[in-house]
Amino acid sequence: MGLQIKPQPGILNIALYEGGASSVDGHTNVLKLSSNENPLGASAAAKDAFLRAGHDLHRYPSTDHRVLRDAIAEVWHLDADRVICGNGSGELLKLLAEAYAGTGDEVIFTEHGFSMYPIYAHSCGATPVVVPEKERVTDVDAILAACNDKTRLVYLANPSNPTGTMIGSKAIARLADGLPPQALLILDGAYAEYVEGYDAGAKLVEKRENVVMTRTLSKIYGLGGLRVGWAYGPQGVIDVLNRIRGPFNLSAAALAAGAAAIRDTAHTERCRSENARWREWMAHGLAELGVLSDTSTANFILARFASEEEATACDEYLKTQGIIVRKVGGYGLPNCLRITVGDEASCRRVVHAVGQFKGAR
Ligand SMILES: *Cc1c(COP(=O)(O)O)cnc(C)c1O
Repeated sequence: MGLQIKPQPGILNIALYEGGASSVDGHTNVLKLSSNENPLGASAAAKDAFLRAGHDLHRYPSTDHRVLRDAIAEVWHLDADRVICGNGSGELLKLLAEAYAGTGDEVIFTEHGFSMYPIYAHSCGATPVVVPEKERVTDVDAILAACNDKTRLVYLANPSNPTGTMIGSKAIARLADGLPPQALLILDGAYAEYVEGYDAGAKLVEKRENVVMTRTLSKIYGLGGLRVGWAYGPQGVIDVLNRIRGPFNLSAAALAAGAAAIRDTAHTERCRSENARWREWMAHGLAELGVLSDTSTANFILARFASEEEATACDEYLKTQGIIVRKVGGYGLPNCLRITVGDEASCRRVVHAVGQFKGAR
């Protein structure tokens, strides 16, 4: 007979997500610059809160995420009722697709957009629609031209990953205003805190009915291992997402540590300024070696090589030096490597190694 049951449409179209590698055979002192993790780690207050949560592991977490939503609302001056927390922002990005898109609907993202977006589209049976960028920068007109009456969601990371580029608030507002009435703009602000003075689209959420902003504690807050994210959106959308999320989607430790991390604004500011400093240093150092990059607004640089062959050879050489960066051929950028901005020593180590690679060619 054999098993007759079949998965929902779209699921078998999903190519498994590959995370950044974290080890190299034969190396003990590996430098991992492949997953955009914070080299300074989480705030001490967040670690303390995490340890304290260890005393109450027999208790279920709260279902309303009050501690975390209050911290977010206070620090970012938002309405706590329109904040929803997720097991990483990935959970919320996926729930948005589950709630609003299905077979026959279209989900738009850009050419070099985050590789999870097609996975979210396929997992709900929707059709992914890939829109060109202009020289690795989001092209609002191209997105608007791709919209039609089947469009349900537009996923846009700003700053974007893996390009590191971003577009301005006016362009984002124009995108929101131009969408068809049955579509939502999902502004993925995973790297927003790295941009000084940028609200990630929070004000736009308050002024429009069709914009949802997602944020994560995996990047600047250094809590990627804990899985904490949040979203801010129209009340109706937040209510829908709350109906379909798991009641205990965040652990008690994640809620406590996440709230402490959000409130430690001094640590966040230090991470932002250190990142900006070493990002400029690294971009400059690589450019002097003939490896150019677009001005990055995030915590990584998209280093461009002369060819796919050179990028691959550099990646291989870096591995022999115990340095792991991210190949981005799967993002349609085969001649590039994405390199996370580390601390000072890491930035010096990777630029030095690229210099050795270039010198040997
Ligand atoms: C890292 C990243 C996220 C964050 O995912 P989490 O599930 O919150 O860890 C979301 N979007 C983009 C574009 C990212 O690069």
